[in-house]
Amino acid sequence: MRARVIRLRRPIAPLVHRRAASTAFGRHPELEHKPIHEDTEINTEAGKIPVLRSPCPLDIRPLDKFSNAELLRGLLMHSVSASPPLTTTASAVIMGLEKHLEKPSLSVVKTLIDSTFYNHYCLGDTAEQISRTIDGLRQKGIAGVILSYAKEVTPAEATESTEFNDIQTWVKGNMRGIGHARPGDYIALKLSGAGISALRLLKRPDSKLNEHQELERAVHETCNAARNKGVRILIDAEQQSLQSSVDSWVMELMAKYNKPSEMRDGTPLLSNTYQAYRIVCPDLLKEHLKIAKERGFVLGIKLVRGAYRSTEPYGIWGTKEATDNCYDGILNHLLCGDSYAKEGGLYSVMIATHNRQSVELAQNMIQVTRSGLGTRPANLTSVTFAQLQGMADELSMGLIKAAAKDGSQDAPKVYKYAAFGTTRECIKYLMRRAQENVDASARSKENRDAVLQEIKHRVIRD
Ligand SMILES: Cc1cc2nc3c(=O)[nH]c(=O)nc-3n(C[C@H](O)[C@H](O)[C@H](O)COP(=O)(O)OP(=O)(O)OC[C@H]3O[C@@H](n4cnc5c(N)ncnc54)[C@H](O)[C@@H]3O)c2cc1C
Repeated sequence: MRARVIRLRRPIAPLVHRRAASTAFGRHPELEHKPIHEDTEINTEAGKIPVLRSPCPLDIRPLDKFSNAELLRGLLMHSVSASPPLTTTASAVIMGLEKHLEKPSLSVVKTLIDSTFYNHYCLGDTAEQISRTIDGLRQKGIAGVILSYAKEVTPAEATESTEFNDIQTWVKGNMRGIGHARPGDYIALKLSGAGISALRLLKRPDSKLNEHQELERAVHETCNAARNKGVRILIDAEQQSLQSSVDSWVMELMAKYNKPSEMRDGTPLLSNTYQAYRIVCPDLLKEHLKIAKERGFVLGIKLVRGAYRSTEPYGIWGTKEATDNCYDGILNHLLCGDSYAKEGGLYSVMIATHNRQSVELAQNMIQVTRSGLGTRPANLTSVTFAQLQGMADELSMGLIKAAAKDGSQDAPKVYKYAAFGTTRECIKYLMRRAQENVDASARSKENRDAVLQEIKHRVIRD
């Protein structure tokens, strides 16, 4: 087999040193961000590791399990997303109609939105719809879903008078998610979604959850219900102004619920989200791993790049390249066990990204450590991948197919994150996806081309 892969300009420095170099970091990337498809090897702090193969090749027809109808809808959705002016116009029209969607006079528009955007990105609203969509994903090989109730209390809507109701609405949404989930699935939660009292507390750096009894009770009620059903919880990362309190609340919750003896498949009940676009991200992870070790709990890590760049005035890497390097550098530490990861406590990792280069890099590191050419950190308890429903399906399916081809039992599982709720409740979620696609139209083109490739294959074969 031909050796394949990624060449780094220089070895990855320990992240401890990275801060000192942080101003230059963007201009002197430690990882060259390019696909794994050339000869040679990856340099890591632990030494050079070979690239064994292209982990999610497109030539294995990743989308062959998709129905013709799903492919055509995907083609339409990715074509709209690949065109920023079209996406912006469609979003403006949908937002303008949001409040009137339930009116009989707009039933045609609603049907149009349902059969395109809503069905493509969301799970549905009724138990039957949600269950059907989840079954469809499982039949394709997806290990499970990450359910996110789309109804959210935005900072602008939250008022003192709705304080109690907001917490109740939030808990009900969490319970609905747990109700629809099956053991092994996840629910995703935004702590700020619990309304004005949560927001007020979260805005104060390093506040404590137990400062608000009702809220604390709501969070524990959710954790216990999930634990009893074998469902896991991902806490979403939010704007930086809220994040230091989110982090400190989740660390306390993890200390209570993430006991090593209570893990399922190497995964604890709770995971926190780490945003690689934040300059502090590597140091924060290092600190949290240390605390996990000291306090004896499992650190659940969901690694993302970060979704709030347009509203963050400071603290974010200056370029996309620097964010990419930070993301891949952290992956390197977590999967190959360099420096701080090895010294920290137990941890599980969910690699949440649509970025092919990062996925291929991670896959290769996993392959290398599995084959004995590198060392998997002893304190790494599980690795999974996650993408959003309706996005980067060829990547999700490529990972599943590559693992099946390999015959490896311990290959990382792939999850799909998706919102549920009525069309109206899901509109804000859909708008965020649209905004993300405007920022990443090149990736939408890749998604569209993968769909086209599968359609072409079917047309030629028939
Ligand atoms: C399963 C899942 C769960 C998620 N949960 C969360 C969550 O809880 N909180 C959250 O914030 N996000 C979350 N996201 C979204 C995520 O943070 C990214 O916005 C999204 O996935 C796009 O990034 P990418 O890694 O897929 O790939 P890419 O498209 O390669 O990267 C795009 C990202 O790069 C970064 N970027 C782009 N341009 C620049 C620039 N000029 N300077 C610096 N950085 C730049 C931004 O973070 C941008 O979102 C989640 C994503 C997934 C797949």
